[in-house]
Amino acid sequence: MSKKRLRAIIFGPQGSGKGTQGQLLSDKFNLPLIGSGVLFRNEMTKGTSLGKIAEEYVKSGCLAPDELVNGIMAHQLKALNLKNGFLLDGYPRTVDQANFLQRILPINCAIYLKISDDEAVRRLLSRIQCPECKTVYNLVEAPPAQEGICSVCGGHLHRREDDTEDAIRTRLTNYHFMTEPLARYYRQKGALLMIKGDQSIEYVHEVLMKKLAKLGFTP
Ligand SMILES: [Zn+2]
Repeated sequence: MSKKRLRAIIFGPQGSGKGTQGQLLSDKFNLPLIGSGVLFRNEMTKGTSLGKIAEEYVKSGCLAPDELVNGIMAHQLKALNLKNGFLLDGYPRTVDQANFLQRILPINCAIYLKISDDEAVRRLLSRIQCPECKTVYNLVEAPPAQEGICSVCGGHLHRREDDTEDAIRTRLTNYHFMTEPLARYYRQKGALLMIKGDQSIEYVHEVLMKKLAKLGFTP
């Protein structure tokens, strides 16, 4: 019997640790980890007609509509070799996008990292990123040696304006409204793998590996 290949997406709210878990999983399974942001930027760099429209949306700060996002993802994903499996992060973000993806690239596992809003807020508020070199500090667990100064490049660390508790809660509300319905969508397809993300990175990874193994996915 040939090995069951993971054709997966990973989703969850900001602060759920999906980036970290996605990277760990991609390393373990030797899977390409495909971030939607990179694909989006590729399309813009190429200057295709879709890329040009996307650029207008980015400039205006408006959310790109599903049709545009789908078009770009279809174009970019087609160019990749995904026959040995893949892990998508950041796409789909809506049920309409998930429906589209299912037609062009069927998913057999949707990993949902679930955390409470309070935990997401707590985590996001304890994080700060250097605006210069992009190093991320956790003010609780791994603060910079000198308060307010990046240990790597000496840059001044300050919280981004959109990292206030109010702004974070607004983004979480949007997430619940737009993206969380994916859980129901993939459950109905028999492809949902839900996991509680409010534990240590190592523990969540371990539980995830066990759940995947139960479904027949092994590295
Ligand atoms: Zn820095």
